Amino acid sequence: MILSGTVIADSSTVISDGGVVIVGSEIEAVGTREEIFDTYPNHEHKEYDIIMPGLVGGHIHSVQSLGRGIADDTELLDWLFDYILPMEASLTEKSMEIAAKLGYLELIETGTTTAIDHLSVAHADRAFEVAGEMGLRGIFGKVLMDRRSPDGLLEDTDQALNETKRLIQKYHRSYDDRIRYAITPRFAVSCTEECLRGARELADEHDGVRIHTHASENRSEIETVEEDTGMRNIQWLDEVGLTGEDVVLAHCVWTDESEREILANTGTHVTHCPSSNMKLASGIAPIWDYHNRGINVALGNDGPPCNNTLDAFTEMRQASLLQKVDKLNPTVTPAEVIFDMATINGAKAAGFDRVGKIREGWRADILGVQTDLTRATPLHDVLSHLVFGAHGDDVAFTMVDGNVLMEDGEVTVADAKEIRRQAHNIELDLEEAREISQEVKP
Ligand SMILES: [Zn+2]
Repeated sequence: MILSGTVIADSSTVISDGGVVIVGSEIEAVGTREEIFDTYPNHEHKEYDIIMPGLVGGHIHSVQSLGRGIADDTELLDWLFDYILPMEASLTEKSMEIAAKLGYLELIETGTTTAIDHLSVAHADRAFEVAGEMGLRGIFGKVLMDRRSPDGLLEDTDQALNETKRLIQKYHRSYDDRIRYAITPRFAVSCTEECLRGARELADEHDGVRIHTHASENRSEIETVEEDTGMRNIQWLDEVGLTGEDVVLAHCVWTDESEREILANTGTHVTHCPSSNMKLASGIAPIWDYHNRGINVALGNDGPPCNNTLDAFTEMRQASLLQKVDKLNPTVTPAEVIFDMATINGAKAAGFDRVGKIREGWRADILGVQTDLTRATPLHDVLSHLVFGAHGDDVAFTMVDGNVLMEDGEVTVADAKEIRRQAHNIELDLEEAREISQEVKP
């Protein structure tokens, strides 16, 4: 297949009248329209205004999609223990499947092709299978919670780690290696030392398995970790082995100098979730400082209950604006840096090679984006538009590994209307689960 239009191969390479040739799961050639059509005259052809790499959601909770709008105007620990844990505890195998479908549908529709996805404690199989069948790429993990967790989510440490091992054996490098495993402790507050050290051991035993957790998101959270351990949150994670090039930490809002040095020295990846940090009033993550220290920063939407959307374009805009106003300096976080965070940096965090740019020989994870919009007129600077002006709804074409997941605005791998209908019809009954959850709240 040939895709033609303005090709944004990466943040510094724009081919204004370009083409991309896809053969199988890979990109065969990238060039000007003339070169491409001269060399490949008989290929199927689609034209979109912009052809760009698929976006990478560096920290999402697809299966929280059924909780969109249930927990506004709260801070992190109230939000989690009063609403989100009760919701996750109340999900059945069937509702988990629908939640996953709804989450992945939104990713496909809005141009996220690779996800770093924090699932829930139970029914993770359903999410792995839905993601695999709907054609996404990503690293996914069942959540580990072995203390300060309500019944329905609380697990014995061995049980939690054994279930993780089973899921790694079943799903790591499945679906043509699009689906990989990330061991996923929820956060230090709800995991024992044994559980966190066990996560590191399991990751070391399985090639390519990563570790993904939350860290230093909110001040009450880091105070709780400090009371428990006598250490700052990142120092504690480093102590138990949860830093390094195979670790993705979501948030890292409240870090001191020693913690930033740990992140930089260990090659730990950080995912910034600006909408979530603003909505939960968690704080402003110092990502410009992280960027300047050489820490790899990706972007994520976090979950629909703290965002309310999985549209990655909104995160690019928020990420840049938030740093500019925080630093009172309009030159920080320019479009190129933010575009890298949403593409190649996310792919590095997830551990996928040859993903995150449009390059010969790289995986064919590609979007077609329309700009025939008042909001995009005039189009003086395409990259500026993508970071500051584009919406997920502008995506008309989504391809992962050479497979078309959405074409001309229609999702081809699932019945979008039916998924929305099923999701609408699920009634969440949180009262009983909420009482249990509040008993274990820190
Ligand atoms: Zn999260």
